[in-house]
Formats: sequence, C-alpha cells, structure tokens
Amino acid sequence: MEAGIADLVRSSKSLLPCLIEEKTNKQLRSKRRIMAFTEATKQAAFRRAGGQCECSRLSCTVHRTLRCPTTLTAGRWHAHHRTAVTAGGEDSLSNCEALCIPCHQQTQTYGA
Ligand SMILES: [Zn+2]
Ligand SMILES: [Zn+2]
Repeated sequence: MEAGIADLVRSSKSLLPCLIEEKTNKQLRSKRRIMAFTEATKQAAFRRAGGQCECSRLSCTVHRTLRCPTTLTAGRWHAHHRTAVTAGGEDSLSNCEALCIPCHQQTQTYGA
C-alpha cells in the first residue's frame, strides 16, 4: 500500500513539469506577435499618401500611369508591407504602403 502511494507521488511529480511546460507554451502562443501595422501607423501612412494610392509599381496592371491615380477612402484601402513580414519587414511607417485594394492584390506578397 505504501509503495502504491509512493508511486502515485512519483508519477504526479513527473507530471508536474509537463503541465508547467504546456502552460508556458500556451502563454507563448497567446503572446506571439501578430504582424500588423498599428492603427497609428496606418493613419500616418494614409496621411502621407494624401488620399492617393501609393502604388508606383511598373509591373502593376491596375494603372498605366507610374503612380496609381486611385483615391483612397478611409476603411477602403490596405496597408501593405513594402518588405514582407516573412522577409523580415517591420511594422514601421517606412515599410507601410497605403494601397488601393486592386493594387494590393497585384503585389507579390499579398496576404504575406
Ligand atoms: Zn492603387
Ligand atoms: Zn498599382
């Protein structure tokens, strides 16, 4: 009987680190940074764009002019990472490009 209790204590002790580890993983997951521009950065990009799509890609087929003539409307444009997050791009204003939705869909890293 005593041996049985000792086994139980031993097994519950060995379970403990597992439970702690699982909790830490969960905390890490919930704290993982979601790569996205802050509202302030997006607003600053929108102001910098002066209400006009900032796309000037020659490869972009949405417009024939160098810079896209599309007027951006609040809430109807996308903040694009000039350098993709997956390529180490930051959520900074300098890496933020205010694009109309058709132009954003033309970028190679759309959704990245
Ligand atoms: Zn555009
Ligand atoms: Zn464009």
